Amino acid sequence: MNTNDTIVAAATPYGRGGIAVVRMSGKMSMEIVEKISILNNPLKDRRPTNADLVDGEKNKFDSSLVTYFKNPSSYTGDDVIEISCHGSPAIVNTIIELCCKHGARIADPGEFTRRAFLNGKIDLIQAEAVAGLINSNSTSCADLNQRILSGELSGRFGKIKNDIVEGLSFSEFELDISEDETAPGSGKHVLKKLSSAHRELVSLLNSYQEGRMINKGATVAITGKPNVGKSTLYNALLNENRAIVNESPGTTRDTLEAFFTLGGIAINLVDTAGIRECLDEVEKEGIERAQKTVAAADIVLHVVDNDTDSKTNHRNSLFVRNKIDLALNTMPDNNNGRISVSAKTGAGVDNLKKKIIKTIGLAGSSSHNIYITTQRQKVAVEEAVCCLKNAIDLLSNETLELELVSLEAREALSSIDGLLGKTTSEDILNTVFSGFCVGK
Ligand code: GDP
Repeated sequence: MNTNDTIVAAATPYGRGGIAVVRMSGKMSMEIVEKISILNNPLKDRRPTNADLVDGEKNKFDSSLVTYFKNPSSYTGDDVIEISCHGSPAIVNTIIELCCKHGARIADPGEFTRRAFLNGKIDLIQAEAVAGLINSNSTSCADLNQRILSGELSGRFGKIKNDIVEGLSFSEFELDISEDETAPGSGKHVLKKLSSAHRELVSLLNSYQEGRMINKGATVAITGKPNVGKSTLYNALLNENRAIVNESPGTTRDTLEAFFTLGGIAINLVDTAGIRECLDEVEKEGIERAQKTVAAADIVLHVVDNDTDSKTNHRNSLFVRNKIDLALNTMPDNNNGRISVSAKTGAGVDNLKKKIIKTIGLAGSSSHNIYITTQRQKVAVEEAVCCLKNAIDLLSNETLELELVSLEAREALSSIDGLLGKTTSEDILNTVFSGFCVGK
């Protein structure tokens, strides 16, 4: 990947719309836009100007608004041009082709954000937040990623780094001045700083489950024997008719999935009405896949009607007693740890929703808390926690081995640097940025 190239891509999704935006970044951006358009005014930093877009024969094919972002105060840190045109794929393709004809090349997925990272505009945690923001399907997710993008999480790691650096410098200082034996009590300052960093990291590590759910949403699977009312409950939770409801046990099919939001969190609701005992080899593949989805679900709603033998092995399950409209007691209750509902009439469904939010474990305070959100972040924090724990244990030994303490503190620092992208391998960078769309 050559970072000196000028890159171009559609910044808006492919398709028809009122407007579309084509974005270009790199040294040649200005020169290229001047060749493919007739500008009403000379380009000035952040001053949109009207321009007629013209082909090779100088024939106008669209009118547009061109905005120039001068380096380094642009998204990528290089010169950036944004061309707002009418939202037709034909127009967008013509602009991109013309830009390439005059020296630009089509951007790889995530290449604009990668350049922002390489030019030091954002760190790797913030780059991940850009992807999180684009993929957000709940307000909590958008809010959290916006706060991470503005530097809240990076700031927390910055403070943790400072504590480790201070602890490390106390340790190195002691090593320098005491040639033979370290004076008693000299590990006290080191311990204070490293313990503070360790505490903060453990608290961030504990935020991962919630952060992941806010970021990716929670998967809630509905299980139970045939005809207990899984599909009816699925429709009741979604408030729409997605799953087919039938009196006879349905034919085996794959799971049905749909998103809805609950307490600001995206819920991926999975109906497993298709999973049942089956002898047909062809159907087994679909069933196995569905069973894997259930095993990986964050919560299982196990639906029963009158069948008390019905069981689930899932670690996080809620028992839902359905069809209470048929029973003598028509009042929804929570007897025997079961949530009673009538998927048909809707009785008890709101109570079930509250239970789901509670089981997910979000206290509704997500707008105040900061979370780590990706597996990559979790692994790096775990590594740093482990090193600091080793250092703290060493500091409580009778013989103070400050060389080893320093070594562990350095390892912890290197994990945090990797997390922020300061010392991150090309492979990891490729993994982070390949998850982006083209044009971002
Ligand atoms: P599934 O096989 O578990 O997905 O069950 P369905 O959702 O297809 O429902 C099976 C039958 O039970 C259908 O005739 C539904 O109308 C009926 N049913 C589902 N929920 C209720 C309920 O709460 N009350 C009553 N009376 N019938 C229900």
